[in-house]
Amino acid sequence: MLELAKNSLLKAKEDYPEFIIQQVKTPCYLISEDVLERNCKTLDWVQKKTGAKILLALKAYSLPATFPLLSKYLAGVCASGLFEAKLGREYFQKEVHTFSPAYKEEELEAIARVSDVIIFNTIEQLVKFQPRVKKINPQIQIGLRINPEYSEVEVELYNPCTPKSRFGVLSSELKEEHLSFLDGLHFHALCEQDSIHLEKVLNAVKEKFYPYLSKIKWLNLGGGHHITRAGYNIDLLIRLIKDLKQEFHLDIYLEPGEAVVLNAGVAVTSVLEVITREQNIAIVDISAENHLPDVLAMPYRPQIIGADLPQRKKYTYILGGPTCLAGDIIGTYSFDNPLKPGDKLVLTDMALYTFVKNTFFNGINLPSLATFNLKEKQVKLIREFSYADYKSKFMEK
Ligand SMILES: *Cc1c(COP(=O)(O)O)cnc(C)c1O
Repeated sequence: MLELAKNSLLKAKEDYPEFIIQQVKTPCYLISEDVLERNCKTLDWVQKKTGAKILLALKAYSLPATFPLLSKYLAGVCASGLFEAKLGREYFQKEVHTFSPAYKEEELEAIARVSDVIIFNTIEQLVKFQPRVKKINPQIQIGLRINPEYSEVEVELYNPCTPKSRFGVLSSELKEEHLSFLDGLHFHALCEQDSIHLEKVLNAVKEKFYPYLSKIKWLNLGGGHHITRAGYNIDLLIRLIKDLKQEFHLDIYLEPGEAVVLNAGVAVTSVLEVITREQNIAIVDISAENHLPDVLAMPYRPQIIGADLPQRKKYTYILGGPTCLAGDIIGTYSFDNPLKPGDKLVLTDMALYTFVKNTFFNGINLPSLATFNLKEKQVKLIREFSYADYKSKFMEK
């Protein structure tokens, strides 16, 4: 594990060189087009080897400026509801697959118009809404999310297949008669996992839903496949997909979020002030609470280029954010040199589940969004935020 961490830091240093970081005004999410493309090529290899189609889960990452690059390789997007479906339709311009735990009646028409596939979460919604959706968009394909009642996800917050889960229809609820409404089935049961875990979930799906699998056109294997991570067993994934296609004669979709943008972005922050104590503290201009929420929710410790575990290097600091939340702490890190105001720090793997979750808590401005590639050597600023963006959330129109 430590060896892996070390290698990924070395790689990050290569992918995000100092002369690029120097161009950035902080705080900033900086996206590498080179890494995006590298990830896409890996995913495209899976598509080419299997004939499966891979969609980007917009909930993990939704930066239209990079969609022309991603849509060169990927088959489309999966959306969690109306806004993501519209964004996908407008800017990705390939397939849009929409899933929502429950659709709002007043949004149904708009969703049906911009989606190629709509996936329902319950039999009730399927039966109630399928005819209306088909009337609005006769081309639309209809899917149903199933719950395999099996998952290898250990963290409860991220496990969609517990007995109390609201996601997906149980095999006891699905009846032969429902198949006439359906083009495909969908499950999502993985989180940052390898193909060996997919194999186990697939066994559960086959055990519980066997009679239906040969009667549908497609099966969507959801997200959580960590395909672009070093050491992921791609050969097994390819074999599993090929076997499924052969056994049941269906098309396969995957809809990863993380795997598309893994390591494809960093968060660049500056030290604002240093508090010298028994345990030194550095206050930085990015917040775990506002800008890196998974650091607190998972929780996990982000990696920082040039930094190490506490006490490994000479100078150790707790890194705290600029909000008034006591727990707004990124982690404790050690550095070769003392930190001082103005020093830039580069937090790795920050493209996923970061800016899509941002808040203006404490009235603190959002980090800007920028991209670059190593051929052009120039950082391109996509978006800066301002007081007007903050204010607009609370003002009457
Ligand atoms: C979150 C989610 C995804 C993407 O998951 P990743 O872990 O980012 O790959 C795909 N499909 C559904 C239904 C999801 O909820």
